[in-house]
Amino acid sequence: CGIFGAVGVTDAANFVALGLHALQHRGQEAGGIVTHDPDEGFNSARRFGYVRDNFTSARLMETLPGPIGIGHVRYSTAGSKGAAIRDVQPFFGEFSMGGAAIAHNGNITNADALRRELIERGSIFQSSSDSECIIHLMARSLQRNIPERMEDALRRVEGAFSIVAMTRTKLIGVRDPMGVRPLVLGKVGDGWCLASETCALDIIGAEYVREIEPGEMVVITADEGVQSHQPFRPQPSKFCIFEHVYFSRPDSLIGSKSVYETRRQIGVELARENPVDADLVCPVPDSGTPAAIGFAHESGIPFGMGIIRNQYMGRTFIEPSEHIRNMGVRLKLNVNRALIRGKRVILVDDSVVRGTTSRKIKEMILDAGAAEVHFRIASPPTAWPCFYGVDTPEREKLLAATMTEEEMRKHLSVDSLKFISLDGLYRAVGEAEGRKSNCPQYCDACFSGEYPVTPADMIKKGFQM
Ligand code: 5GP
Ligand code: SF4
Ligand code: MG
Repeated sequence: CGIFGAVGVTDAANFVALGLHALQHRGQEAGGIVTHDPDEGFNSARRFGYVRDNFTSARLMETLPGPIGIGHVRYSTAGSKGAAIRDVQPFFGEFSMGGAAIAHNGNITNADALRRELIERGSIFQSSSDSECIIHLMARSLQRNIPERMEDALRRVEGAFSIVAMTRTKLIGVRDPMGVRPLVLGKVGDGWCLASETCALDIIGAEYVREIEPGEMVVITADEGVQSHQPFRPQPSKFCIFEHVYFSRPDSLIGSKSVYETRRQIGVELARENPVDADLVCPVPDSGTPAAIGFAHESGIPFGMGIIRNQYMGRTFIEPSEHIRNMGVRLKLNVNRALIRGKRVILVDDSVVRGTTSRKIKEMILDAGAAEVHFRIASPPTAWPCFYGVDTPEREKLLAATMTEEEMRKHLSVDSLKFISLDGLYRAVGEAEGRKSNCPQYCDACFSGEYPVTPADMIKKGFQM
C-alpha cells in the first residue's frame, strides 16, 4: 500500500491526492483521504479505483477542507479479497480526547489473535482488515494522549507497519522496529509531509528531509515542527529487499540510494553471474527495464524494446483472480515483431512468482519468430510467501517452491533460465560483502525462507517455516 500525510498547508487534501497519485503503483484497488478543519471537523472520502478518477473532482475535494490530512492507496493482502468499501483506509476512531485517523502499509502477523482477544473484550470491528486492530488497541489504552495510545497499541502488534496517522492538529508517522516498509519525511513550504516514497515528495515540490528511522515515531504540528520518539526496543533493521527490486518506483530514493541505479546494478550483477551469447537484451516492461539496461551495458549485447507496454493498464499482478491475471498479460504487453524476428533474445524481468507472466511472454516472443529465448531474473527464486505486506500466493503456487531451476526452465520451455543469487542482490543494493548469513541486513524471507518475525497467525493455520 501507499500512505501519505500533510500538515501546515492550505487545503491538505490536494497535497494528499497528488501524493497518493504518485504512490498509485503501491496499490490500485482503492484510495481514501481524511482531513480535519477547525470549523468543519473531520471529513473523509473512500473510493474504489484510481486516485485520478476520484480525487480530482472539485465537488469531492471541496468536502475535504483543512490544513491537515492523510491518505492511503490500497493493495489487498490481509483482509477480504475483492474488498468491500469498509476495508478501505484510512480508519477512524473517536476517543475521549478527540478523533484520530490512521493509514497503514504492511501486514500485522498476529492480527487474528489480537482480533479474537479484542472481540472477546467487547470491540466491535467494522472491517475485515488487520489494520483495524490498531484503532481498537488504542481505544483500550489508558494513556492520556493519542500518540501515547498509539505507542501502547503498536507495542502489542507484530509484523510490518509503516503508519501515517492524524489527530485534529498532529500528523504522526511510525515505522516498525525492523523498518520493513519505507516512510520518508518531507518539508513543503511552512508545512510537513510524510510519504511511502520520495517520488510522492517530488510531485508536490516538497524537499526530502530524511527517512523515518526503524522504530521511530514522529509527531508533527504546524507550530512546533517534528518531535521524534523511540517507543520500541531497538532491533536489527530488516528493510524489505524487494522494495529495491520491484515495489518502489525507480525515481524514488531509498536512504540516499536511487532505486533506478540499484536496479541497473542488479542487471550488471546478473550479467556477470549468468552470461549468455545472444543478439538482444529485452526488458519485460516496466519492472524489468532498469535491470535490462544494466545487463545490456555489462554484457555489451544491444538493448531493445522487444515488448511494448500499453500504458493504460495497471500492474497485472495485483488483479485478484487468476482468470483476470491470465487475460491481463495480453491486455498489457505486446511484442515488437520487427525487432524480435530471427534473434536470440535475453528477456530480463524482476521476478518469477507463479510463472504466469514468463510463460505468456515466452509464447509471444516465439510466435514473433525469436531464434532462442533466455530468461534472466533480477531477483532470486521466490520460494516463500511474504507475510509483511506484499501479496504473494500460498507456497504451493510459487513455481520456485516446488521446482528446481532446471525444472522451471523445462516448465517454461525456454533455452535458459537464470536468477540473480542472493549475494549478488545484496552486492547490487550496496552490501559489498554480500549477505551476512548470521544476521542478514534486509528482510529477504520470500527468497531465503528466513522470516525476521514469526508469522504467528499463519503458523496457527498450519504454515511450516
Ligand atoms: P508471475 O507472473 O510469475 O506470477 O509474477 C511475476 C510478475 O508479476 C513480474 O513480472 C512482476 O513484475 C509482477 N509483480 C507484480 N506485483 C508483484 C508482487 O507483489 N510480487 C512479485 N513478486 N511480483 C509482482
Ligand atoms: Fe519484502 Fe520478501 Fe520480506 Fe516480503 S518477504 S517483506 S517481499 S523481502
Ligand atoms: Mg513485471
